[in-house]
Amino acid sequence: MSETLANLLQETRQFPPPADLAAAANVTAAAYDEAAADRLAFWARQAGRLDWSKEWHQILDWSNPPFAKWFVGGQLNVAYNCLDRHVLAGNGDRVAIEWEGEPGDNRTITYADLLAMTSQAANALTDLGVVAGDRVAIYLPMIPEAAVAMLACARIGATHSVVFGGFSADSLSNRIEDASAKVVITADGGYRRGKPSALKPTVDEAVSRCPSIEHVLVVRRTGQEVDWTDKDLWWHETVETASAEHTAEAFDAEHPLFILYTSGTTAKPKGILHTSGGYLTQVAYTHHAVFDLKPETDVYWCSADIGWVTGHSYIVYGPLANGATQLMYEGTPDTPHRGRFWELIQKHKVSILYTAPTLIRTMMKWGADIPEQYDLSSLRLLGSVGEPINPEAWMWYRENIGRGECPVVDTWWQTETGAMMISPLPGVTAAKPGSAMRPLPGISADVVDDQAESVPNGGGGFLVLREPWPSMLRTIWGDDERFVDTYWSRFEGLYFAGDGAKKDDDGDLWLLGRVDDVMLVSGHNISTTEVESALVSHPSVAEAAVVGATDPTTGQAIVAFTIPRGHVDTSGEAGEALIAELREHVSKTLGPIAKPRQIMLVAELPKTRSGKIMRRLLRDVAENRSLGDVTTLQDSSVMELISAGMNSGK
Ligand code: ATP
Ligand code: MG
Repeated sequence: MSETLANLLQETRQFPPPADLAAAANVTAAAYDEAAADRLAFWARQAGRLDWSKEWHQILDWSNPPFAKWFVGGQLNVAYNCLDRHVLAGNGDRVAIEWEGEPGDNRTITYADLLAMTSQAANALTDLGVVAGDRVAIYLPMIPEAAVAMLACARIGATHSVVFGGFSADSLSNRIEDASAKVVITADGGYRRGKPSALKPTVDEAVSRCPSIEHVLVVRRTGQEVDWTDKDLWWHETVETASAEHTAEAFDAEHPLFILYTSGTTAKPKGILHTSGGYLTQVAYTHHAVFDLKPETDVYWCSADIGWVTGHSYIVYGPLANGATQLMYEGTPDTPHRGRFWELIQKHKVSILYTAPTLIRTMMKWGADIPEQYDLSSLRLLGSVGEPINPEAWMWYRENIGRGECPVVDTWWQTETGAMMISPLPGVTAAKPGSAMRPLPGISADVVDDQAESVPNGGGGFLVLREPWPSMLRTIWGDDERFVDTYWSRFEGLYFAGDGAKKDDDGDLWLLGRVDDVMLVSGHNISTTEVESALVSHPSVAEAAVVGATDPTTGQAIVAFTIPRGHVDTSGEAGEALIAELREHVSKTLGPIAKPRQIMLVAELPKTRSGKIMRRLLRDVAENRSLGDVTTLQDSSVMELISAGMNSGK
């Protein structure tokens, strides 16, 4: 960047924690001081929340940066920590997973049940010849077996690679090949949008190209017809007939736990490698601290898919390590109706909800009258992850879902960081709508300029991490060089996350989107996030995506793609008038420099399968280029509609 980011958005609203939550909070302000006094000792104390079969002799080995080793010499079993120890402590009858299928079927699974299911799967995988260090691909819908499969791998020391169930045969086979997986665990299908959606044919196609695969384990979920090959085995004939007794063996703290490919929002997905002890320490601690989890009374729900890192860290490993009771939901938010999420919260008395800005903005588009029809009084805390949350979306979430009372925690982290890094603490922080606020205790994040100098309060630049953290990625699978190049070469000795951020006058952090998305308009760096947030602050707008398109006079010009809220008339002249009004609104909110050259009203935006806006495709449209790689796109027809609208000058 030639200049640091212009600091445009002024947000002054602030919401201190509710007094009762603060008084009983798991973590108080003292945690920041403790971690500041001795960061490594702080993390060693958090590691003590887990059961280790052998104590480590060194907290952190950073002698060969950027290759970190945490809790060196320590040994533990990750699945034992998520299951056995709760059962041994007398909590076997506690519900681990309340599962809701999309068609309305449900299952209640206690910790004792989950341990038995995982033990069976561990025995079955062992019988199939899977040994510690082997890779297992998991391609499943959101059914309890997805968690069981992951935990079974962890239990026997196999490294899982979960591939999101919406990905194509190409994406699946690339990931299987990259990791040389030996087994795939899949299902006949899952339910999506009211009907069975097949998975097995995709696996068949992928496996036909992947000689490393020896067996395919198939869960029967939908009962639909499947082709059968000699590698295929039914889960119910293999796993469910295996012994439910299994003794977990301890593995090294640095034993590989999983590979997960990043969402692919910006580039070719990278196989991010996470290991055991440090990862589990940080996911368990952050889940305890940021969600203030009270395992005896809370009902927790993270609506992410298990195919994303959020599902790994905050459906499987963090909550289960903490003995949480959680809801798991198979389907889409609008099946069979647009109130499904709120109906589930009412039914299960969910107290903590963790979801994504894309979902919140969709709910805004559908209208607040939908959640109003449900009793959401069980909720006490709301979380957000995945993209910057626009201040208006944050307010909408707090007001309409959180009754204007629940704290909202905006959590910044990445597949690479493994666990949350920047977030309010719900019992401590007076949160500002749209800000992730401060690095969590034990984390040292900063914003630097292009000379790697820390920017003063009020400044903007690159988000970096100064010190290694327990759940950090250890490398990119099979490509140490790409690991060093991608994350550690931009600034000497610093991890560069790829995101832009600013510090406000109080030193609180605001995420401004990816630096690749930053626009350079008449010599000023302007963040897409801020212009999008300005658009979303207009009462007629639910969602917006902004890109910089080459412009002969200004270098780049701002082009905005905007989804109106449900009730708004966008036909003919009303649409033209709204566009003019929105351009003025941005200019008034952020200053004339940020006024979009062009605004298009659209029905949908191109998103990755994890729900993130893919600005690079919109940039292709805005600059009349043919589209780049669309394989990680959720719905490719969206791009055709948008391109058609652009060319007709709408
Ligand atoms: P790829 O790296 O392949 O382009 P990706 O970055 O979308 O894909 P993830 O690891 O799932 O893959 O997402 C992490 C990114 O999501 C962060 O770098 C950041 O850009 C964004 N993000 C996540 N949480 C937040 C948040 N609370 N506020 C702002 N941005 C966030
Ligand atoms: Mg990324």
